[in-house]
Amino acid sequence: MSSLLRADLHCHSTISDGTLTPEQVAERAHGRGVQLWALTDHDEVGGQHRAAARAAALGMDYLTGVEISVTFADTTVHIVGLGIDPDDARLVAGLAATRGGRDERGREMAEQLAAVGIRGAYEGAMRYAGNPQLLSRTHFARYLVESGACRDTGEVFRKYLIEGKPGFVPHRWARLGEAVRWISEAGGTAVIAHPARYRFSANEEYALFSEFKAHGGKAVEVVTGSHTSAEYLVYAALAREFGLAASTGSDFHSPAESHADLGSLPPLPADLTPVWCLLQQRIRRAPAAA
Ligand code: AMP
Ligand code: MN
Ligand code: MN
Ligand code: MN
Repeated sequence: MSSLLRADLHCHSTISDGTLTPEQVAERAHGRGVQLWALTDHDEVGGQHRAAARAAALGMDYLTGVEISVTFADTTVHIVGLGIDPDDARLVAGLAATRGGRDERGREMAEQLAAVGIRGAYEGAMRYAGNPQLLSRTHFARYLVESGACRDTGEVFRKYLIEGKPGFVPHRWARLGEAVRWISEAGGTAVIAHPARYRFSANEEYALFSEFKAHGGKAVEVVTGSHTSAEYLVYAALAREFGLAASTGSDFHSPAESHADLGSLPPLPADLTPVWCLLQQRIRRAPAAA
């Protein structure tokens, strides 16, 4: 399978902080020409069977997925797992532990927002949470737009909910080694998500890539909705340097909010090994059209 395959291996549904159901994301991906799709909700695999079933009905190849929140060097880093068994007990338990504490964090975020005059944020955010166990900053961002505090979610993530601004509550997520192990034990491949987003120093970034590899991580997102085209080149070079395969995905959350729509990104650089070459046995092939 070549790097020209139209793959979208990173996106979200109402099971985490997306606004479309798993079935609606499947329909949209298929309608936009995606040939190999993975739904990667944050810290949750509850949408996997629904996503796989709709992909099969549409005739689209599917890889199971998840995006795990990790704390590395005091920073939140996301690790995508592809081709996981969503029923693996160790993975399911690890994700449940990672989700724990989101509600408490949300209440503290709302207290901080109330202190700057924004009331009702916990209840308001919860109304946007399709999955009450996965209350996310994205849901708060939608409430801040609804309440008129900000014009759009971009403004929210400049004025609120980030380090140093009201509504930011630091949180300890999973450890890097744990996340990679849960993914590997569940038969999947671990992928560093959108590395340009972390704003690490060169030393910290080197440490992330080295430790990820030492733990058994195999791939890195090169082409993603969270990278500029200049950043595609930076992370293509790091993939080569570390001998990692390359992944791609829009990180689509909502028709109204996302930088990149499903299936809209350019192909991976041709000399890199696409992550799906490592996952041939894990792809759920759509039944051939009648
Ligand atoms: P959480 O896991 O609750 O900390 O929320 C993280 C989510 O917030 C990410 O998955 C994104 O969906 C969203 N997010 C974070 N930063 C930004 C940003 N600058 N612009 C838009 N959405 C963001
Ligand atoms: Mn998100
Ligand atoms: Mn992410
Ligand atoms: Mn994501």
